[in-house]
Amino acid sequence: MDISRRELLGTSALAAVAWPGLGAAGEQSVRGAGRLSVSRRRLLLRHTWTIARNSSDFKDNVFVRVERDGVVGWGEAAPNVRYGQSAEQTMTAIEKARPVIEAGDWRHYVDLRAEWERAMPNESCACAAVDIAILDWVGRRLQAPLYRLFGLDARKAPVTTFTIGIDTPERIKQKVAEAKDFPVLKIKVGTENDEGIVAAVREATDKPLRVDANEGWRDKEQALRKIQWLQGRGVELIEQPLPAAMIEETAWLRERLEIPILADEAVTRAADIPKLAGAYDGINIKLMKAGGIQEALRMIHLARALGLKIMLGCMIESSVAISAAAQISPLVDYADLDGNLLISNDPFVGVGVQEGKLILNDRAGLGVSERDKG
Ligand code: MG
Repeated sequence: MDISRRELLGTSALAAVAWPGLGAAGEQSVRGAGRLSVSRRRLLLRHTWTIARNSSDFKDNVFVRVERDGVVGWGEAAPNVRYGQSAEQTMTAIEKARPVIEAGDWRHYVDLRAEWERAMPNESCACAAVDIAILDWVGRRLQAPLYRLFGLDARKAPVTTFTIGIDTPERIKQKVAEAKDFPVLKIKVGTENDEGIVAAVREATDKPLRVDANEGWRDKEQALRKIQWLQGRGVELIEQPLPAAMIEETAWLRERLEIPILADEAVTRAADIPKLAGAYDGINIKLMKAGGIQEALRMIHLARALGLKIMLGCMIESSVAISAAAQISPLVDYADLDGNLLISNDPFVGVGVQEGKLILNDRAGLGVSERDKG
């Protein structure tokens, strides 16, 4: 680089905005050492959480904190038994990736992602925690919310559903009352008593419903009967009616139904999507399945190119991972980002909700802060 060009870049406003404090055009290597710390926190559920597969009163999630040059980034992993994950295994995986993360240049997070994914292969939620933390750091370093760096309009953030887990009719009615501010509800089914669950919801509200069977119906004939019964009851879509591997059976089902069918357990990353087009009308993308925000963005663009509808969903997560997903929510058709609302001890504050609509704030990165630190 010649002197005049260096001077030009060094004094340009863009250089100062691009990587504050990193010098001319941000082309110097990063100065400070990167530090990563991992901790585990128990998130307590407001109500016992029951879906077709299992039931729980708490979830142990893993939090990642990265720091460099006085700037901190937060990430979160929500390990899920469906994908063979646990908090211990997730923490061990992140430890394996620590050397490449701490030594890496976080500004080049696209290249660096390939390195941490190689260091912890098939550990999607561990990768998600790292991806979220590094992108939070990047946003804070650039002093901009991630949605702004991605060129998205925060006003286009969708309404999120509020999810009613499987329960007794009395408690379902109580949960519907608690969800009074949400205009659309998501109902978990996939049990022997689906009709009773939906009847209990319908006694309490006439709001539109999205129904998630979590692979709970065992064959296509049973799924067809269940969905035909649901279609007349204000249900606007069905999520994962059959086990993930039953793609042909789901295509059979789709030929016989008007209502959109979305894949959840059948899709984790972008590579899974092409084989689902034709069998499903859309996909439910979750950062924890995808391995983070970067892969979720690839999935959104691929799904759009294939004409699929897109839902952005979540696990039981704090405001860290929910706010991370919310950053890209202006790109999707449906949101189910209520994991932080289902817990009673969220350690963070971030994205807000008003009458169901996700409210993105102006704070840098994910827009989150620790609850007791303001
Ligand atoms: Mg689901």
